[in-house]
Amino acid sequence: MADIAATSVRELRGVGPRLAARLAEYGVHRVEDLLFHLPLRYQDRTRITPIAAAREGADVVIEGEIRAADVVFGRRRSLVARIQDGSGTLTLRFFHFSAAQKTGLAAGTRLRCFGQVRRGGSGPEMIHPEYRALGEGEPPVAEALTPIYPTTSGIGQNQWRNLCNQALARLQRWPPADLLPAGHNPYDLGRALQYLHAPPPDAPQELLREGQHPAQQRLALEELVAHNLSLQQLRQRQQAAGAPVLAPDQTVQARFFASLPFEPTAAQSRVLAQIAADLARPRPMLRLVQGDVGSGKTLVAAGAALQALANDCQVAIMAPTEILAEQHWRSFADWFTPLGIAMEWLSGRVKGKKREAALQRIASGEAGLVIGTHALFQEDVVFQRLGLVVVDEQHRFGVHQRLALTGKAGPEQGRAHQLVMTATPIPRTLSMVAYADLDCSVIDELPPGRKPVTTVLIDSARREQVLERVAAACAEGRQAYWVCTLIEESDTLQAQAAEATAAQLQQALPQLRTGLIHGRMKPAEKDAVMAAFKAGDIALLVATTVIEVGVDVPNASLMIIENPERLGLAQLHQLRGRVGRGRAASHCVLLYQGPLSANGRERLAALRDSNDGFYIAEKDLELRGPGEVLGTRQTGLMEFRIAELPAHNHLLDQVALIATEIRREHPELAAPLIQRWTGSRQQFADV
Ligand code: ADP
Ligand code: MG
Repeated sequence: MADIAATSVRELRGVGPRLAARLAEYGVHRVEDLLFHLPLRYQDRTRITPIAAAREGADVVIEGEIRAADVVFGRRRSLVARIQDGSGTLTLRFFHFSAAQKTGLAAGTRLRCFGQVRRGGSGPEMIHPEYRALGEGEPPVAEALTPIYPTTSGIGQNQWRNLCNQALARLQRWPPADLLPAGHNPYDLGRALQYLHAPPPDAPQELLREGQHPAQQRLALEELVAHNLSLQQLRQRQQAAGAPVLAPDQTVQARFFASLPFEPTAAQSRVLAQIAADLARPRPMLRLVQGDVGSGKTLVAAGAALQALANDCQVAIMAPTEILAEQHWRSFADWFTPLGIAMEWLSGRVKGKKREAALQRIASGEAGLVIGTHALFQEDVVFQRLGLVVVDEQHRFGVHQRLALTGKAGPEQGRAHQLVMTATPIPRTLSMVAYADLDCSVIDELPPGRKPVTTVLIDSARREQVLERVAAACAEGRQAYWVCTLIEESDTLQAQAAEATAAQLQQALPQLRTGLIHGRMKPAEKDAVMAAFKAGDIALLVATTVIEVGVDVPNASLMIIENPERLGLAQLHQLRGRVGRGRAASHCVLLYQGPLSANGRERLAALRDSNDGFYIAEKDLELRGPGEVLGTRQTGLMEFRIAELPAHNHLLDQVALIATEIRREHPELAAPLIQRWTGSRQQFADV
């Protein structure tokens, strides 16, 4: 046996080429990697619980004798067995079962079962428990808590346990290298790993569930340090690549600003100046502009784009949805066409000859400003001299996707500058770990004349009242949005739901001109509806969440959001930003489907009580966790193995300190730390 850091998993019992290949998909190559594949949670199979003492919702082991087993035909056919111990009786229920299984559960058989206790029609029950028949002797119960490992497919829990146990056996003799600088590791690394893979029966389960056991904190700290270092490294690599120097050009910008019907706000000017200075340097800009809904981020993007265009460079503007990209297209066409700038459109819907022609104009440099969706990421999109990439609504794209695009600058140029804009402020706590690679600017001022929106929560049982409110607002010449939400991602289902609501509202409010807009409509149809709403020809606009971003109709002063409990706070805040743009006092009604969960009520109350995007984002993070907030589920960014935010927020100050110390005094520790924790994911960093 050799050092676990140098030993391939192939050396372990039962690991052949196929399993090794599967393990590699998890970034597990060496025996040590297994130890860092940490359990998600634990089951307690160390004791047998009397049936009478088994709490609802708990996972427990019970032991008893089968009294009866029958196939019953209820709503679903199922095999139902009654098991009894000295203390009580419990029902075992199987919806899928074989004939042999039924025979095996004959009355009188003694069983040991493991499963979750639920409340059934006739007392406690377990659905599809794990079980085994007991013979003469009693097999021993587990000696440690049973770890549940993260796994998708191909490798089962027993296989993970077996492999990790083999790795643990080696851990005693060859402890893994301690990579945190001296003085920062109060808890021995080997001991922490041993503890977390096999916690003793008396382990404090509550602490473990909350991720606050000292062993978990020790590893979370190391993981967060590794992520911080990895992002810093990414940034350094970016910087080293160089970027085109884009000198400020006063004349074009002055002409542009003179053509606007308003002056930039002080905050817009300040952020524009920061960007202008970044672009003039030979290093790629990586700047995140955070600005609340309606703060005027598009104008900032336009200023930056002009600076790149004036230096004969191309600009790509990318938005997460077709409708938002279209909105940008309209704004920029208004602003830039008079300046003689050639624009190009690229989305997933542009296909065949049209697409080829567009790609050709992008590759030749004929197209100066390219606007589109993630279609811009595709490999065959080649720019002649891309100088600036603007990404709107940051949180929906991952770090790696963004970098894929800046790499399109062209060989001599290095990387393109990058401007990322978001209305979902990234909470400070999170930005440090997730966005160490970005500089931040904040547009902390709204254009003059904006009014805070008054928000109320109303139970859908009182829908009538809301209808009256809509009628009253429209009678006064105001306009309203009625937003239909649906959890399903399907455009078609969303469209159907919106159509049904529109028909129903039309019937309830026959005096109003009602319009409908959803994602399934053709761009020309959407344009026509939006134009009619803007012109005041439509009083009540029924919409899906497609109107989340970009839509601007100052006379609309009332928004009803149906089933707001289905959406994230940030998205609701975005939606609400569509009103409060004119002179009239604006209102938003969150028409929820009661009863709300405690968490659901707290979330909606946060929105009712605040118009501050920062506060709302912090609250969202607290109540939903960063995976949801950042949309990292889809992007693969920030999948921590053990660290959890905000549960480990209290470690972040220490993380910053340690990361700095490593960079300054122990740079040799950075690579093995990054390798250990981010492993295979690092390869993306090279795009
Ligand atoms: P967001 O930051 O949400 O993307 P937009 O860029 O869409 O905001 O701007 C919202 C609206 O405010 C637009 O109609 C835009 O023309 C207008 N706007 C932007 N800047 C100013 C300003 N300085 N003064 C007045 N209106 C402005
Ligand atoms: Mg915007």
